[in-house]
Amino acid sequence: MAPKLSFASRIRWLMLALAVPGALSAADLQIEHVTIVSPERSSPMRDARVHVHDGRIVAISTGSGAARSGKDTMVVEGSGLYLAPGLIDSHVHLGAIPGMTPEQEAAHPDIAKAAREQIPHSFLLYGFTTLIDLISTPPEMARWRSHDIASNAYFCGGAALMDGYSMNYAPKPQRYQNWPYMLIEPGTPAPDGIDPALHTPQAVVSRMKADGAICVKTFFERGFGGVRDLPVPRLETIRALVKAAHAAGLPVLMHANTDEAQRFGLDAGVDILAHGLWNWSQEHSTSSNVTPGIQKILDDELAQNVGLQPTMQVLHGIRDLFSEAYLSDPRLTRVLPSTLLDWYRSPEGQWFRVLISQDVKSSANADPNEVERVIDEGIGPVIERGKHATAYLIARHGRILFGSDTPSAPTYANPPGLNEWLEMHRLIDAGETAAQIFKSATLTNARALKLDGDIGTVQVGKRANLLLLRQDPTSTIDAYAGIVKVILNGRVLDPAELAADAVH
Ligand SMILES: [Zn+2]
Repeated sequence: MAPKLSFASRIRWLMLALAVPGALSAADLQIEHVTIVSPERSSPMRDARVHVHDGRIVAISTGSGAARSGKDTMVVEGSGLYLAPGLIDSHVHLGAIPGMTPEQEAAHPDIAKAAREQIPHSFLLYGFTTLIDLISTPPEMARWRSHDIASNAYFCGGAALMDGYSMNYAPKPQRYQNWPYMLIEPGTPAPDGIDPALHTPQAVVSRMKADGAICVKTFFERGFGGVRDLPVPRLETIRALVKAAHAAGLPVLMHANTDEAQRFGLDAGVDILAHGLWNWSQEHSTSSNVTPGIQKILDDELAQNVGLQPTMQVLHGIRDLFSEAYLSDPRLTRVLPSTLLDWYRSPEGQWFRVLISQDVKSSANADPNEVERVIDEGIGPVIERGKHATAYLIARHGRILFGSDTPSAPTYANPPGLNEWLEMHRLIDAGETAAQIFKSATLTNARALKLDGDIGTVQVGKRANLLLLRQDPTSTIDAYAGIVKVILNGRVLDPAELAADAVH
C-alpha cells in the first residue's frame, strides 16, 4: 500500500515541483519600447524590443518587428525608460562583513547572518550585477553563490609574497591556509608542512586557474600605520608571475598606491594597478599638485595603457570612521541591516576606529583629545594627492577601470552598493564624465577581465544582466540612484525589495 501523504506534505511536493523550474530558468522576458544605451553604441537605440531566453539576450529589434511573446513570456513595458548593461565592479572583497572580524562574526551570529543575507542585495540595489573579488578561494566563492539572489561573482587568486602584505594581518600558521596561492621566493625557508615547489609563480598560477580564478592579484606594499617593514617581492618574481599568468590567459592586478610600488608594477608589466597613486614619497609630498617625478610615473602608465582603479573611496572610508554624523546617514539603512548598524555604534563595533586612534596617539605622540583632528589633517592631503593623480590620468584618457575596493581595510565605512555610488561621485569630482564612468563600469571592465564575450553591453548573445533606468546613465550618475528594475541572468528584480529596510 502506498504511503498516505498528509495534506501538508502533498502541498509541499506540489510547491517544489512548481518552484524548481521557475526559479532556475526564468521564463522568457520581453522588454518593449525601451531606449537602449550601451557602451559600444555611438547613439541610443530608441523604441527597441529586447527578448531574453534562458538568461541571455536572444533578439533585439526596433519599431514594428514581430513580437515573439508567447504565453510564458513576461512583458516589461519600457517606454520612457533606458535599458543599460548591468554594472561591473572590478575590485571588491566579498569574504568579510564590513567592519567585523571573523571572531566578532562568530560572537554575533544573528547580526552576521542578517548582514550576509543583505550584502548581495545591496550591490544589486545600485546596479552592480557583476563583482570581481580580488582575493578569494573556491570555498568563499561557493558561499557567495549559495545566495538565491546575488550578483555574478568571479575571483582572482591572491599571490601575496609569503608573510608580506596583506597576509601579514592573519596569525601564523593560519595565514598559510588562508593564502593558498602565496609566493615563496628562492632562498626563503618555507613554513613547516609547506612545499615551496607549490609556491613558485608558475605553480600558483596553474593552481588558481584550475580552481576557477579569472585573474591574479599581487601586492607591493611595505606597510603603513604601525607596520612599515613588510617584505616585498623581487622584480624577477613578479615578472615571472606576469609571464605565467599571461601564458594562462589571466590578467595580473597589483596592489600599489605609492610611487615606488606603481613604478615597480610598471617595470614588472602588470595589467592593472588596483589603487590610485596617493602615497607620494617624501621628495614629492611637499605639494598636493603633481610633481615632475609623479608626472613621469603617470605618463608611463598612460603610455603602457595600464588599467587604473583609482579606488578613491578607500581613504574616505577611513576618514568617515571619525565622523560623528556618518552612522546617521539615512542611505545606510537601505544597504545594511539595522542590527549591524546598531552594533557599529557599540563600543565593540568601534574597534577599528579605536585601533587607528591608538596608532596615531603613539606614532604622532598626539594629545588624546586631538587624535581626530590629527587624523583628519593627515588624511586630507593624501586624499588630495590621489585625486590630483587621478584627475591627471582622466584628463589624458587613461584606461580607468571602475573598482571601488568595497570594503577596504576592516572599516565599516565602505558599505556595499552605496560605496560604489560614492566612488562615482569621487570620479566626477576628479573630472570623469557620467558617460566615461558608464563605459568604465561596463565594457572597459569586461574587456580588462576578459569577460566581454559574456557581459558589458546590451547585445544579442550577452547575458541578460540589465538595468532599467529613468535617466540616461551617459548623462548623469543619478540614473543609478533610482533604478526601476535590475535584471540578473534574465530574472527581473525590484530594487524596493532588495533594500535592507524593505517592508516584506
Ligand atoms: Zn582591495
